[in-house]
Amino acid sequence: MSPDPNANLSFSQKFRLLFGKARRFYLIHFRPKYVEAKLSGREGECGRSGACCKLGFVCPFFDETTEVGFCIIHKTRPANCRIFPIDERDIADRNLIAPNQPCGFTVQKSDTLSPTGAAFPELKKEHAPAHSDLRS
Ligand code: SF4
Repeated sequence: MSPDPNANLSFSQKFRLLFGKARRFYLIHFRPKYVEAKLSGREGECGRSGACCKLGFVCPFFDETTEVGFCIIHKTRPANCRIFPIDERDIADRNLIAPNQPCGFTVQKSDTLSPTGAAFPELKKEHAPAHSDLRS
C-alpha cells in the first residue's frame, strides 16, 4: 500500500478536497445542465492513476494491493466517481494528489464550451437538458 498523499497537504488543501466532493455532489444533483455542458467539452480518458480515489482521504473502496489499484465497487460506484472530473476545479484538486502524473482527461475552460457537444454517456438523459438552460 502506498503512503496517503493527503498526509503532505495543508489543512486548507485537505478542506478544499473535501469541499470538492460536496461541490460535485451539488453539481451532479442540482446543476445537471452545467455538468452536461462541461462534460460535452471534456476529452481524454482515465489514466488510472487512482488520484481521484484519494481526494481528502483514501477511499475505503480503493484496493491498492495491486500495482495499479482499482475500485472494488467499480460497477456500482457513485455518480461523483463516474463523472469525475467535471471541470477545471476538479482537475486542480486531483493534481494536488498526483502533481507529477497528469490526469488523462482535459476539460475546456468555461468560456470555450462547445454549445452542442455530445452528452456524457453515463449522464442520464433527464439530468442533461438543453445547454440553453445553463445558468452561469
Ligand atoms: S468508490 Fe471507487 S471510484 Fe469512487 S473514490 Fe472509491 S475507489 Fe474510487
